[in-house]
Amino acid sequence: MSSTAGQVIKCKAAVAWEAGKPLVIEEVEVAPPQKMEVRLKILFTSLCHTDVYFWEAKAQDSVFPRILGHEAAGIVESVGEGVTELMPGDHVLPVFTGECGDCAHCKSEESNMCSLLRINTDRGVMINDEKPRFSINGKPIYHFVGTSTFSEYTVVHAGCVAKINPLAPLDKVCVLSCGISTGLGATLNVAKPKKGSSVAIFGLGAVGLAAAEGARLAGASRVIGVDLNPSRFEEAKRFGVTEFVNPKDHSKPVQEVIVETTDGGVDRSVECTGNVDAMISAFECVHDGWGVAVLVGVPHKDAVFKTPPMNFLNERTLKGTFFGNYKPRSDLPSVVEMYMNKELEVEKFITHEVPFAEINKAFELMLKGEGLRCIIRME
Ligand code: NAD
Ligand code: ZN
Repeated sequence: MSSTAGQVIKCKAAVAWEAGKPLVIEEVEVAPPQKMEVRLKILFTSLCHTDVYFWEAKAQDSVFPRILGHEAAGIVESVGEGVTELMPGDHVLPVFTGECGDCAHCKSEESNMCSLLRINTDRGVMINDEKPRFSINGKPIYHFVGTSTFSEYTVVHAGCVAKINPLAPLDKVCVLSCGISTGLGATLNVAKPKKGSSVAIFGLGAVGLAAAEGARLAGASRVIGVDLNPSRFEEAKRFGVTEFVNPKDHSKPVQEVIVETTDGGVDRSVECTGNVDAMISAFECVHDGWGVAVLVGVPHKDAVFKTPPMNFLNERTLKGTFFGNYKPRSDLPSVVEMYMNKELEVEKFITHEVPFAEINKAFELMLKGEGLRCIIRME
């Protein structure tokens, strides 16, 4: 038992007080974990675009004051009642979606949409008592997607924690707890390109480049990267992207450009932008008869996907995925093993690193479209 078990921990956390305002490092109180919860010491966290969306709160409703952050790695500090599969000292990745193990989704081989713990961006409290575990002088500070990793300590549901190989370097594998696994799984588990096939990737941020890695691992022969930001193209070559299309360079819709250059369309496409027009293009650029498009980006809450129904009758398939269809507790440890076995490189996704005190720099970099993942070192 750690000396802090069962007690309130005072630590530093980056609090988002209001939409779009720089985070403020505050001293927060973190209550002990309750039934089926664990308290984690976060060692490394990184910034994903989803954090930025909810911080900006332009497109999505958001709850404030809140502790954001969901891509991270840490160590279990203490566990609450009923937790049997985790113990203090375990090396873990917290995940924004969970796996209770008991519901119809968790029992299905096809789904990772756990009824109890699936992503809920509106909930700022823990399920057990509908209260947050964070406070400042008794005033509540709310959670984000069940993880809130921009804090030295956080409390998460045990079903949202993947126990990983203790030899895995946490400053690297933290990026596997969201973006990289999401992109990789979107290709390997959902799009499932065949060897020698063509794959279009929309959006060449970390998620899209991980999707491109998946295409490379699956043996795709053409990987077409689509992005509005030309500075992404040079970087993307290191991720197996073989061709580039910038929609801004063409007068006709990008899907038409792709259909023309691929003899009727790509075999698979994976959308990793969050932009609804890119989603439509990603669907309309797949080949009839067998093409499959997979949506990964988180859209504006009012966005509507519009396409002529004939596109479906002509035997194109549209799918979407959260977390690349990986079940967090069952599947994530094996993604970490892919890295440990050198099948998957994660270093090339990590372009920046900042100490926790400079967390706002990570936001600035993402807003400028610079780099892929910025690691935030907690100590
Ligand atoms: P990012 O900002 O690093 O990358 C997005 C890229 O898309 C940028 O390079 C941008 O220039 C490009 N882009 C934007 N609009 C475009 C358009 N219309 N056409 C072509 N390119 C366009 O973001 P990221 O961290 O890689 O995340 C990508 C998306 O995936 C985000 O929407 C994020 O919220 C979402 N996401 C979803 C899941 C999931 O489980 N479904 C998990 C993690 C992230
Ligand atoms: Zn479940």
